[in-house]
Amino acid sequence: MIQTNLTTILQTIHASAVKAGRNPSSIQLVAVSKRVPVESIQLAVESGQLCFGENYFQEASEKIPQVSGDLSWHFIGHLQSNKVKEVVTLFDIIETVDRIKIARLIDSHAQSQRKNIQILLQVNVGGEQQTSGVSPEQTEALIREINKETQLQVIGLMTLPPYFSDPEKSRPFFKKLRLLATELAKKQLFADNKNVVLSMGMSGDYPIAIEEGATLVRVGTALFGERIY
Ligand SMILES: *Cc1c(COP(=O)(O)O)cnc(C)c1O
Repeated sequence: MIQTNLTTILQTIHASAVKAGRNPSSIQLVAVSKRVPVESIQLAVESGQLCFGENYFQEASEKIPQVSGDLSWHFIGHLQSNKVKEVVTLFDIIETVDRIKIARLIDSHAQSQRKNIQILLQVNVGGEQQTSGVSPEQTEALIREINKETQLQVIGLMTLPPYFSDPEKSRPFFKKLRLLATELAKKQLFADNKNVVLSMGMSGDYPIAIEEGATLVRVGTALFGERIY
């Protein structure tokens, strides 16, 4: 099942890229494994998937050490100050940085652990009250502060639009994130301004996110099935 789903998702990524005139190899799948048991994650690894995303530190700290393979783990959940040290230990990329205080903490733990952590800034494109993320207007100031005060590599931007049953409704949010990234890249604010990472799109809307420039798509349900809570 997981292998079949993975094949379908990779084919869809490929087709969406071609449709948008993009190179399919510029898009990476982050398999979102929150609430997914270790056995299922291991099956995905055996099918060739090497990049995973987790939201909850506690859950991830139990599962990550049990999964074997040369894997890359992305933290995609809300970051709390008192969990940063462990998040730095367990993860390779942190996608949800949205304030300077957290960036400073990540930096100091990364330095004391001698770990090279890459980060993305989570942008609240829609300005919803309940969603984390820096506002589009504040993003430039935040990235400048991080570049000035830390050694962290800001490799790109991430967004999580509000949920719509019609995936077309996500398109303006994806587009806005891409335009913002383009503007910041012109100002040379990212670690690699020719290859800015755009993390956007989930099970319901990743083909549209790819049409709008996503380089990372975060897909859970379409790969592992409905999560059990
Ligand atoms: C859960 C989650 C996903 C994956 O959502 P699906 O709809 O299951 O694909 C992606 N990104 C974030 C930030 C999530 O929390």
